[in-house]
Amino acid sequence: MLNNQGRPTAPKKLGAHEGKTFSGHRGLLMEEALIFETGRIDATGVDLDEPAAFTPRLGTLAREEEIGLPGLSEPETMRHYVRLSQKNYAIDSGLYPLGSCTMKHNPRLNESMARLPGFADIHPLQPQSTVQGALALIEELAGWLMALTNMEAVAMSPKAGAHGEYCGMAAIKAAIEAKGEGATRRVVLVPESAHGTNPATAAAIGFEVRSVPAGEDGNVHPQAVRALMGPDVAGIMLTNPNTCGLFERQIVEIAQIIHEGGGYFYCDGANFNAIVGKVRPGDLGIDAMHINLHKTFSTPHGGGGPGSGPVVLSSRLAPFAPVPFVRRNGDHLALVEDKVGTQALGRLTAFHGQMGMFVRALSYILSHGADGLKQASEDAVLNANYVRARLADLMSLPFGNRPCMHEVLFDDTWLKDTGVTTLDFAKAMIDEGYHPMTMYFPLVVHGAMLIEPTESESLASLELFIMTLRDLAMSALRGETARFEGAPFLAPRKRLDETRAARAPVLRWTKPEPIVDAQAAE
Ligand SMILES: *Cc1c(COP(=O)(O)O)cnc(C)c1O
Repeated sequence: MLNNQGRPTAPKKLGAHEGKTFSGHRGLLMEEALIFETGRIDATGVDLDEPAAFTPRLGTLAREEEIGLPGLSEPETMRHYVRLSQKNYAIDSGLYPLGSCTMKHNPRLNESMARLPGFADIHPLQPQSTVQGALALIEELAGWLMALTNMEAVAMSPKAGAHGEYCGMAAIKAAIEAKGEGATRRVVLVPESAHGTNPATAAAIGFEVRSVPAGEDGNVHPQAVRALMGPDVAGIMLTNPNTCGLFERQIVEIAQIIHEGGGYFYCDGANFNAIVGKVRPGDLGIDAMHINLHKTFSTPHGGGGPGSGPVVLSSRLAPFAPVPFVRRNGDHLALVEDKVGTQALGRLTAFHGQMGMFVRALSYILSHGADGLKQASEDAVLNANYVRARLADLMSLPFGNRPCMHEVLFDDTWLKDTGVTTLDFAKAMIDEGYHPMTMYFPLVVHGAMLIEPTESESLASLELFIMTLRDLAMSALRGETARFEGAPFLAPRKRLDETRAARAPVLRWTKPEPIVDAQAAE
């Protein structure tokens, strides 16, 4: 770039092209068109012989137009999907501070265990005598989950946290119906701060949701529960530690109120990572709790793999556990699939659950041991508190600067009058190479920013994250709105209209109209 004296001007930060290139690629980051835009109908990755002459038998069902599938050569196909995969942000590429999600490292040991042919290559319909080892693994994992929670039974088949909630609430409904109270107990209490899946699950099972207000301190108080408890209440769904990252200190008293009133206590155990080895939910009076193997027990989630949400049940709900479950007869393990003659719920899913996740979770548990699991929880809590302590002078904490559990919750009071919002701040983190924290959740806190570093981060990695947030925070407080408005600037896509994307998603690609060449038309 030359100035009017013919001397080069100082290069801008983004370089002479302001980040614009002829190819649309930036550095080695490729701009990726849709496969439908680059594919050609006549291209293919394989050589296919012309089919021999035949008489079509499809009659009127025969396709009349071109099918329109994109054709690419093998290397083009390969590159397209590899480049797309590189656009994913993943736990394997950087710190993932998404609160409530426990995005922790997935140890590679677990992966190699899950790939052992004896686990990876079996089929759910194989004769049981040929999969005794797999059944033994399910039984052993179930034993660990019951021991860690001090519960009577565990349903292994639910395939995610929300599915586990469904299982637990269905067990509660079955227990209530067995007592002949199905018609009267129709209400489930759910705190305002709950994860959206809780009220959704209660409603999906057919319960009416009654909201429990949170106290000034972010906790649910026994008085609030008592005030709402009545003969129409089937139970409560409570998260502990709750979604504000705080331990519900009066949970035992809340359990008592629910039980005395004839209800059941469902605990959302997605945040179990904070308390494994420290507190056993069964000791707190909980009747049902899902455990997200894909959070606490390090199995992959999101794009990395399917979830798995086993549900532990107290003795009051154990008879209603769904089929199938593993039963031991001496040396032989049998899968009980028939509910006839029992109070068991039917099936929640085809087959037995996420076998690959069971292998990974047990591998994680055995490689840590009881002491290691406890240490992991302590480190997760320590890391979150380190983040809190290092940012508390700049960013505001809604419930005061007191210790949190495995995640730390900031609100947007500190951004008041800066012209920067929670959304702007989170988007600017992307330019700095960080996946944003959970934003605007829980709803009880204005402009919430929920950070869960997990125990997998080293001090050095936490420090860089903290220093980056400090730099961004000071920038916001100095009123440098340009760094935030419209961020991210360096991502392949800029600020998207997320509301429109959610409300009016375009789920189907349609061929664009041919662009009329304006010059040619003149
Ligand atoms: C993740 C989560 C869930 C839901 O779990 P899924 O496996 O995503 O269905 C429920 N409650 C809380 C608090 C969670 O963090």
